Amino acid sequence: MNELVVLLNQYAEAYYTKDAPLVSDQEYDHLYRELVALEESNPEAILPDSPTHRVGGKILSGFEKYTHEYPLYSLQDAFSRTELEAFDQRVKKAFPEATYLCELKIDGLSISLTYVDGILTVGATRGDGSIGENITENLKRVADIPLRLPEPVSLTVRGECYMPKASFERINRQRQEAGETIFANPRNAAAGTLRQLDTGIVAGRGLATYLYQEAGSSERISQEEVLQNLAHLGFSTNSDYVLAQDLDQVWEFITRIDEKRHELPYDIDGIVIKVNQLDLQEKLGFTVRAPRWAVAYKFPAEEKEAQILSVDWTVGRTGVVTPTANLTPVTLAGTTVSRATLHNVDYIADKDIRIGDTVIVYKAGDIIPAVLQVVLRDRQEQSPMLIPETCPSCEEPLIHYEDEVALRCINPLCSAQIKERLRHFASRDAMNISGLGPSVVDKLFDHHLIQDVAGLYRLRLEDLLKLPNIKEKSATKLLDAIEQSKANSAEKVLFGLGIRHVGSKASKLVLETFGDLENLAHAEEEAIAAIPGLGKVIAQSLRTYFEADGAKALLAELKEAGVNLVFKGLRVTDTAPLAGQVVVLTGKLERLTRNEAKEKLEALGASVTGSVSKKTNLVVAGADAGSKLAKAQALGIPIQDEKWLESL
Ligand code: NAD
Repeated sequence: MNELVVLLNQYAEAYYTKDAPLVSDQEYDHLYRELVALEESNPEAILPDSPTHRVGGKILSGFEKYTHEYPLYSLQDAFSRTELEAFDQRVKKAFPEATYLCELKIDGLSISLTYVDGILTVGATRGDGSIGENITENLKRVADIPLRLPEPVSLTVRGECYMPKASFERINRQRQEAGETIFANPRNAAAGTLRQLDTGIVAGRGLATYLYQEAGSSERISQEEVLQNLAHLGFSTNSDYVLAQDLDQVWEFITRIDEKRHELPYDIDGIVIKVNQLDLQEKLGFTVRAPRWAVAYKFPAEEKEAQILSVDWTVGRTGVVTPTANLTPVTLAGTTVSRATLHNVDYIADKDIRIGDTVIVYKAGDIIPAVLQVVLRDRQEQSPMLIPETCPSCEEPLIHYEDEVALRCINPLCSAQIKERLRHFASRDAMNISGLGPSVVDKLFDHHLIQDVAGLYRLRLEDLLKLPNIKEKSATKLLDAIEQSKANSAEKVLFGLGIRHVGSKASKLVLETFGDLENLAHAEEEAIAAIPGLGKVIAQSLRTYFEADGAKALLAELKEAGVNLVFKGLRVTDTAPLAGQVVVLTGKLERLTRNEAKEKLEALGASVTGSVSKKTNLVVAGADAGSKLAKAQALGIPIQDEKWLESL
């Protein structure tokens, strides 16, 4: 028991606090059950720090603690129909009239939202159930959480915040390219995102929610009504639920969802079965850790064993070298898998993965096949994996930076990187140049027809016709597509440049404000960072990129070639009253806090910066304003007060 408690607590800390699990959920659940069984037969020896008597993990420093008025719970789990039958019998013995509401068990993290008179005042994590972290500012950046309800009601609602599979895939791709550790699954990605200290990052991560509970007493009489009322108040609720009269109907729902769960746009790890009548729920009550009126049926793990036949090392657009294992084929979550990512060199070293090993393969977020761990039982003479020292493409030495988990090729002339950059530029979300697939890019580059993206716009028909296997018709079509791409709106060009951290959404956001790429190239970091939805990281990355001589030259060449660098969509300037204005707040405001005033200014289109300079368009001053006000006066910058801001 001692051993299990120590091990489980160590795993739980990695999972809940560091968002980086050390073992699979199945392994954790297996050990947990072993501990439960031991505790049942030795109740006198239960250890005070046993995870069976606690909810969740430790509270992180960095956020303020928040004491929940009504505690949050975990759920007892069931792994088979037999275990569900035991739950059903316990409930029906006490209350034969009980019916069940079956909901999807969304694999995210619990959140608690408190509204006072219809206004969101606190958003918090579950924490250890009684005390969570106050993450209000981050939750305000989650798009589907209402900041104001349609009615001035005061209530606390509970639910799950999760990361859709598509966002998970996109973010892990970006992290891999940036040489950062990747998230093990969407749940960890969501938890890690909500613990970000930079709220701008949260906004770009595409989190979403499903709410399912009103805390404390409710005027509703059933769980089904609770869901309906939450939807009525404007919360996202999951409509995939069913009211079941008995266990057969519960099982029918479980089977139906199990068949389609891989197609859902978010991860679920089971079905939650709740007694539908709220009065019965109250009578059934809680154990120290979980309600007696609910159970979580967990789907069997989608993990398979396969053997690693060989490993391919490939160089991405940013020079990160990624290992992929070739496997004996296995069927996983509905598809045949014969390749799986090994993430990076640190991952290989940590897990001691070797060629010839039998490994456990799973699909992270049901999408990307990955290797979870080695099955040591089958290990024979395999020697540790040889890690390449030179780039598999250009053969220059590879670098392993201390703060990165990946190997990197830093040769700017590495052909694999240049080809990847060209492919990215032509891809659908970027310049969308049809006919410029990977093999055409390879040929153009290998025959020295292009070196960078600007080279595309200098291609001539006679050059293309020199390439092997290219007919005049397809060459003309390709030139047409390249020509057409010149007219794209500037955010396509910006995204196509493949700047670190700058995805398609961020590209659009910055250009909505700056209007054209050349303006952006000269913009100050502060002004970029002030755009709602962006943050320091993106601003810094843009600044670093555009400061390089190469980038300046490239932009000039693109312009010279006739590529449009102007944003063609609706600009913030076209709509918001303070759009494009750089505003500074100073002094003590009477009614608004500094943060509230900043948010209001941003909502009106302004960028709020910290210091007054020639670039400042406006200063909003409160009482006791000091040097900033004086400087603004000296520079002749217009000054307004809080009343003016409120009326606007
Ligand atoms: P849980 O995730 O098994 O179930 C409780 C949670 O389900 C609730 O807190 C809520 O957030 C969520 N939920 C989702 N949809 C819901 C719905 N419709 N209605 C009600 N709740 C819903 O329990 P837990 O305490 O959060 O975590 C325990 C589990 O976490 C373990 O069983 C294990 O799988 C995993 N874990 C893994 C490790 C590891 O190292 N891999 C470590 C610790 C915990």
